[in-house]
Amino acid sequence: MVIETNKVVLVHYTLTQDTAEGEQIESTQGGEPLAFIYGVGMMIPDFERNLEGLKAGDRFAFGIAAADAYGEYDETALVEVPKSIFESDGKIPEGLLDIGNVLPLTDQQGNHFQGKVAWVGLDKVKLDFNHPMAGVNLYFTGHVEQVRDADPSELAHGHVHGPDGHHH
Ligand SMILES: [Zn+2]
Repeated sequence: MVIETNKVVLVHYTLTQDTAEGEQIESTQGGEPLAFIYGVGMMIPDFERNLEGLKAGDRFAFGIAAADAYGEYDETALVEVPKSIFESDGKIPEGLLDIGNVLPLTDQQGNHFQGKVAWVGLDKVKLDFNHPMAGVNLYFTGHVEQVRDADPSELAHGHVHGPDGHHH
């Protein structure tokens, strides 16, 4: 059975930056494989394109440019806000605005999102709303663990059930 639309696919992979020898970002090796339904829009399109037609046991190694993954880094997604908005009882909680901290925020419409503290000034702070992987060229190395038919409830939910998928 080969990987095609509506198949459940289990893969083990290691994700590195730029090339196979690049800095490791994440890996499923030694843990649970990644399980997903192929062709239903869950994954980065270029990730799926590179797996199409493979079968269990096949190995893969391919790169995806940042623009085709989580997007280029966007300078305009770096936003300056007054520090005072983070005050509670007139004080900014100790350590809250440390560089690199990821802050959960809510806008006036009640949408939740995250901003990373990128720069701290006297009374202003710059928050970075880029995806953490924006501007990163991805490189995947790994192998296909299993390919099987998705059952109707999996297709209805859009995710994989069972040992390596959702439990509910
Ligand atoms: Zn489900």
